[in-house]
Amino acid sequence: METIENLLKIIKNYNPEADLDLIRLAYDFAESAHKGQKRLSGVPYIEHPLNVAVTLAEMKLDTPIIVAGLLHDIPEDTSISLNEIKKNFGADVASMVEGVTKLGKLKYRGMERYIENLRKMFVSIAKDIRVIIIKFADRLHNLKTLDALPEKKRYRVALESLEIYAPIANRLGMGEMKGQIEDYSFKHLNAKEYNWITQLMTESFQQRKQWLDTVKKITQKELKASNIEIISIHGRVKHTYSLFCKILRYNRDINKIYDLVALRVIVKDLADCYAALGVIHKLWRPVPSRIKDYISQPKPNGYQSIHTTVFATDGQIVEFQIRTEKMHEEAEFGVAAHWHYDEKGSVIPSKNIAWIKELAAFQKVSLEKITDLENLKIDVFQNRIFVFTPRGDVIDLPERASPVDFAYSIHTELGNKCVGARINDQLASLDTSLKSGDVVEILTDKNRKGPSLEWLKFVKTNAARGHIKAKAHSSLTDWLKTKILPEKFPKKEADKIRKKKLF
Ligand code: MN
Repeated sequence: METIENLLKIIKNYNPEADLDLIRLAYDFAESAHKGQKRLSGVPYIEHPLNVAVTLAEMKLDTPIIVAGLLHDIPEDTSISLNEIKKNFGADVASMVEGVTKLGKLKYRGMERYIENLRKMFVSIAKDIRVIIIKFADRLHNLKTLDALPEKKRYRVALESLEIYAPIANRLGMGEMKGQIEDYSFKHLNAKEYNWITQLMTESFQQRKQWLDTVKKITQKELKASNIEIISIHGRVKHTYSLFCKILRYNRDINKIYDLVALRVIVKDLADCYAALGVIHKLWRPVPSRIKDYISQPKPNGYQSIHTTVFATDGQIVEFQIRTEKMHEEAEFGVAAHWHYDEKGSVIPSKNIAWIKELAAFQKVSLEKITDLENLKIDVFQNRIFVFTPRGDVIDLPERASPVDFAYSIHTELGNKCVGARINDQLASLDTSLKSGDVVEILTDKNRKGPSLEWLKFVKTNAARGHIKAKAHSSLTDWLKTKILPEKFPKKEADKIRKKKLF
């Protein structure tokens, strides 16, 4: 059982000046709001928001996010309104709680090929990256307590987490969150493989434990001798799911996985990273072409570190990961590291991070001008809407798109043959502006010859425009060719007309 005292202790550790009274107030508020409610497992409901807040505190986040984490389920599950949260805790906290509530209503359904759209929709609804972080913490605790749910629901939640949540966490550089979400989901999606890999890992780790300790001690001694200050050095075991994906590529042979356990060396600054690499390479021969310098060339999600694999003591192979403390925090927490209490509003993530570049490009802002993460928020999908097919697939369209755009984005023939639409079970004309969340069904007439040029007045997508013009163009020229041209025009004139672009 989690306790408020433990939460306060964690926060005090990284943020001695935190407003602990406010946190306690939020806890009391949530506890009384959820009074009498129980989780499916039978424990008092408050246990859930409390665990969410602890996860956020473990990420060293600032107070408003933790307060919002404590309050996140109140509007949805209790009689207390969002307005009351606003009155008591301010507009910023209330807007985060509102975002989490909205995200909770997003239904996961549909086919694999629309998953990317679902991810976009998730991000678009959240609007604020802090909302996504809270939602991750919320999902993580739900995954940890999934056993209390019926099997079907368990499977659905796990699949959704693996396909929607984990990839978003990855893109935001939140390595630890991604790893945990994947591992808990994996366990419920494929218990057999999960148990196999877990056992394999435990055995393999047990076998090497002592050996690793020796290697660690030698490394420590040599780095010290070269005057490199070690902030920490520890073994890290690979996450279960990522190991599973990797081992499948190596015919399930664990001996071919060199980074099952890696030694992570955290040093003071950039120069020490390269100095440490030198020391390790002088000590042990590196495995050829296994040196990866993600410091000079970070991964697309911003990950920075130097990886090298060496033949260490007794010729056994081990991977080293060398990085500074800042790189370490970014690798673990990703974008969340930028809401660390001490960096509030002041630090912008490395401009190498792919999603920062994407955001900037999309808003036509030069990277240099980005000085405040708050301003960036997530406008990427601001002018997109997400609508559903009757089967639940999500279609991503520009704002004010029409049923015709929707039809063409599914299939050309559906567009060519459409005659009307049903939006949320109501008949609607083809020029209706769609809104996010609409369920759209296209009515067709198989005898319809093709699209109407009138549609060009209201369609918003290039795809629809292109199909309408192409279809209209070809049917008109066909008609011209067969009906008029041969009789009424001399050949030269006819060719001229044929070449002329009609639209
Ligand atoms: Mn929740």
